[in-house]
Amino acid sequence: MPQKQLHDVLIIGGGPAGLATAYLCHKHGLSYLVLESGKAVFQGIANSYPQGKLVYASKPKDAPEPFLVDELRPPDKPVTVESYLQYIQHFVQHENLNIQTEVAFEDIRDERDQLVVVTDKGLFKGRKVVLAFGSSIPRELSVYGDAKMVAKSLDDPTKYIGLKTLVIGGGNTAADVVIAILKAKREQNDTQPVYWAHQSEKFDVNAETAQRLGEEILLGGSIRLLPNATPRIGEVDDEQVDRLSIRINEFKQGDGIDLYHALSFPMHNVIACIGSQGPVPIFDKLGIQTISCTAGVCKVAKEGDRLVLLSSGFESTRKGVYVVGGAISPSYMKISEGLIQEEKHPNLIYTAVNDAYRVVEEIRGKLGKN
Ligand SMILES: Cc1cc2nc3c(=O)[nH]c(=O)nc-3n(C[C@H](O)[C@H](O)[C@H](O)COP(=O)(O)OP(=O)(O)OC[C@H]3O[C@@H](n4cnc5c(N)ncnc54)[C@H](O)[C@@H]3O)c2cc1C
Repeated sequence: MPQKQLHDVLIIGGGPAGLATAYLCHKHGLSYLVLESGKAVFQGIANSYPQGKLVYASKPKDAPEPFLVDELRPPDKPVTVESYLQYIQHFVQHENLNIQTEVAFEDIRDERDQLVVVTDKGLFKGRKVVLAFGSSIPRELSVYGDAKMVAKSLDDPTKYIGLKTLVIGGGNTAADVVIAILKAKREQNDTQPVYWAHQSEKFDVNAETAQRLGEEILLGGSIRLLPNATPRIGEVDDEQVDRLSIRINEFKQGDGIDLYHALSFPMHNVIACIGSQGPVPIFDKLGIQTISCTAGVCKVAKEGDRLVLLSSGFESTRKGVYVVGGAISPSYMKISEGLIQEEKHPNLIYTAVNDAYRVVEEIRGKLGKN
């Protein structure tokens, strides 16, 4: 059942673009709701900026306009990401913005004069939907069955104390998760191992990460490496526990019968750090049109890249659905006065915030709320 309330605008993602959209809706008396998959707003930034990184109020060289939502502009004298995030939290509280966290967007359905947004926490109704989910969408595990309960990042390593934990992925992010859990387990004298699985033979981490991992192991960390391991099946067992089966030691016998071993973990013991992808697969799922760059057509995007097609007010080919911010960077195809042209769109807080300004102006006009 959809929520009863119909919002003027449903905003997907609580980063700079989504939050600026929310703030402007709030200021102009449009009803709105932000749906953010993370634990807090600006989760994308919290996850991707290294600790202590300075946040710059960068503007593209050829951009004449100032930040159109000054309240979200990083200070001219750069501050660390931690202080910027703290400022944003205060801003959200002070303005009392309408945000639901830990709600992951999945799909949109059309219903008469409204759009129904499908999430992992149910359905929400809006007249317009603004997609502000950024440029980096965590990949889903592709298994037979459902693996939605598998975590895609580590929020609290102590959650895994006392559990045999499985971390999937062969890169630095997966290694960092393994290290954090090993450390938490060591501090609590927990001897349950961390299984670390990767689909290839070789794990691929940088020297600094390898050194930290080595230290944790030497300090007593219990780790079981599972190279050449492939997640296969997501299923519910007889006790109604969601489980993930991962295949290890696969032997092709040549007579058509394969021999393999598999391990089955409760899904809440599993974290999959298998990287992220651009938003094109989501645009495809939503039926939002994209155009492929052919030779000589695009200056910013490469040949073969698919760019989303948007009006000058950021409306996609799906009526009432707008796309802003990092999700349309580094360029998109703009339809303007009958012409379709690649539009440069650098992935910056500045562009995200200024897109929000334009999209809210456009929506106010369409809803007659000027
Ligand atoms: C390391 C690094 C350093 C940077 N430094 C700077 C800098 O100094 N200055 C600058 O201007 N720019 C910088 N940038 C770029 C800047 O962070 C981005 O341009 C900006 O965050 C884009 O904002 P956004 O709101 O479009 O996307 P994001 O910030 O990515 O926000 C998207 C939000 O949507 C949420 N989301 C994703 N999927 C879903 C879903 N299915 N359902 C619900 N919510 C979802 C995410 O959790 C996230 O909170 C940097 C980027 C990186 C990676």
